Amino acid sequence: MAFKERTKPKRLRVMELLSRRMNLSRDERNKFLYWVKGYKGEIQFDVLTQKLKCDCLILNDLFLKVNGKQFQIDTLIITAKGIYIYEVKNFEGTYYYEGTKMYSGRSRKEVYDPLDQVKHASTLLRQLMQQMGYSLSIKTVIVFMNQDFALYQAPMLEELILPGALKAHLAEVSEISGQLSQTQRKFAEEIKALHIEDVSLREVPYYEESSLKKGVICCECGTFIEEYTQSLYSVCPICHHKERIRDTVIRQFEEYKLLFPDQKITKAVLLKWSDGRLSANRIAYTLKQTYRAVGTGRWRYYE
Ligand SMILES: [Zn+2]
Repeated sequence: MAFKERTKPKRLRVMELLSRRMNLSRDERNKFLYWVKGYKGEIQFDVLTQKLKCDCLILNDLFLKVNGKQFQIDTLIITAKGIYIYEVKNFEGTYYYEGTKMYSGRSRKEVYDPLDQVKHASTLLRQLMQQMGYSLSIKTVIVFMNQDFALYQAPMLEELILPGALKAHLAEVSEISGQLSQTQRKFAEEIKALHIEDVSLREVPYYEESSLKKGVICCECGTFIEEYTQSLYSVCPICHHKERIRDTVIRQFEEYKLLFPDQKITKAVLLKWSDGRLSANRIAYTLKQTYRAVGTGRWRYYE
């Protein structure tokens, strides 16, 4: 198990909901799909790093701050031979380097070079380490996860790991001998504690409650469920997924809280959010059973 697990970023979870409940522009949709793909690549990489046999600590998705600057590390692996910082890319298609810049073959546009990205992260990590009183060696690595990725005129750098070389690279890490030192373990604890959850919604389109489609979405296929024929379960008309109504209410609650963290959630709010599809009694009962009630009467809300 990873020493720090990866969780789905908030902005991606919000975008998943928005993609169902509002019309995204073509640019917004492309951005969303890009994030989904990026996250999928990271999860695929996590599956591979879980198989490492060497004594190591794996910290997935660190969001850190030093001297007022924030930076993010996709994967950090502490081994007896030093620290690896990974930038995980799930680029698809053809890319090429011209000079020190990287371009997409399709659009011919410059892309944010992962080499710069990982260099930026390692510089800031070194600063942070210094402040923490550590001097451990850092290696930066960029892994390209997608089998349909090709990179031309790439600089001959050992830190660029193309899909075909990934297995060999991880085998090499896996064979690192020796045990982690006390200092390395202490560093892992301390850096994990410094992680901040990235709750920013940068690049997420503006939304407000009135502009979002109300109703209950199937948690399997994303269809809006229009009809509730049973009192304890809902059955999706498209994928036939069955869900306890209690769980549906909880899902509606969590969705609303994610989208509108500053709003108080009352029975009336959830009734409106579900577009009246869920019964008021069922909502009231579940809220009472699951959440903490604050206030009384019609002003009572739950948290
Ligand atoms: Zn469904």
